[in-house]
Amino acid sequence: MVPSCYGVPVAPPRPAYDDPMTDLHPFIAGLPKAELHVHHVGSASPRIVSELAARHPDSKVPTDPEALADYFTFTDFAHFIDVYLSVVDLVRTPEDVRLLTFEVARDMARQNIRYAELTVTPYSSTRRGIDERAFMAAIEDARKAAEAEFGTVLRWCFDIPGEAGLEAAEETARLAVTDGIRPEGLVSFGLGGPEIGVPRPQFKPYFDRARAAGLRSVPHAGETTGPETVWDAIRDLGAERIGHGTSSVRDPGLLAYLAEHRIALEVCPTSNIATRAVATLDEHPIRAMADAGVLVTVNSDDPPMFGTDLNDEYAVAARLLELDERGVAALAKNAVEASFLDPAGKERLAAEIDTYTENWLAR
Ligand SMILES: [Zn+2]
Repeated sequence: MVPSCYGVPVAPPRPAYDDPMTDLHPFIAGLPKAELHVHHVGSASPRIVSELAARHPDSKVPTDPEALADYFTFTDFAHFIDVYLSVVDLVRTPEDVRLLTFEVARDMARQNIRYAELTVTPYSSTRRGIDERAFMAAIEDARKAAEAEFGTVLRWCFDIPGEAGLEAAEETARLAVTDGIRPEGLVSFGLGGPEIGVPRPQFKPYFDRARAAGLRSVPHAGETTGPETVWDAIRDLGAERIGHGTSSVRDPGLLAYLAEHRIALEVCPTSNIATRAVATLDEHPIRAMADAGVLVTVNSDDPPMFGTDLNDEYAVAARLLELDERGVAALAKNAVEASFLDPAGKERLAAEIDTYTENWLAR
């Protein structure tokens, strides 16, 4: 098994890029933000891993913060996969699921992420023997507690781990559409895992079921394969946003279609470097996407695993797009527009962004 978001990753996950701490960083840190592409287990920071490891002393994961920092310093991609799987192995009980989810929300709140659609792969937990209803209760309990304590609103995207095939698709669709099981916070249905050798069209029946049940379609596509995969995601899976969509820039007709239909791209710059979807940050196609009028959103994917967070990703995007404060605020509002918040929620968050920005500039 590989983490939910990778195609054929060969590079060390810690990318070598210029210092992302631009002078916009303090502005970005306080900016109210929405995050649309971030994975549940992939968001486990060393602090959270330490807490989970302490609950399971038989695991090989260190609990001492210093040793853990070393553990999280990846030497190569194989090491990264090893660490990721050891974190997956720490999530064994519903209480582990609750702790992970609540603490991920705490880390989000510290970055002033006000709303997040967190991609959860329930198949990874249910196939490991966690009771499905207990799993749903755990994430929902964490969601409600996080909103009450931090004010960060969480919603769920259930994604199919593509590498696990149609059995995983069936199980994920069942969990996502069955009354009495599907959680209240579920808003969308996704597809992750490798793209090469895992054609998108085979998942059409499962996306059809999810969409018929009112869920929005947000598959990963065009991260490690060409723009035809993005077309497949649009035509066969009814994609309303595209996870990554990096290769879309190779097809001007596709860019025009995305722009016209307001199908947003969930861009995760540092992740793209780590997985070698893009060679260097300076070659990242985010500028071409934005210049074509595509609704571009900035996201962190598996932040601690890639040594980043959403604030750093905004700083990177600001540099690549040559944005000032208002430009960054507009980028943040793209995420609000592309989110599955209700209209009143979108209006509220967009107003928060405007107020913050005007106050900042009036200092
Ligand atoms: Zn992803």
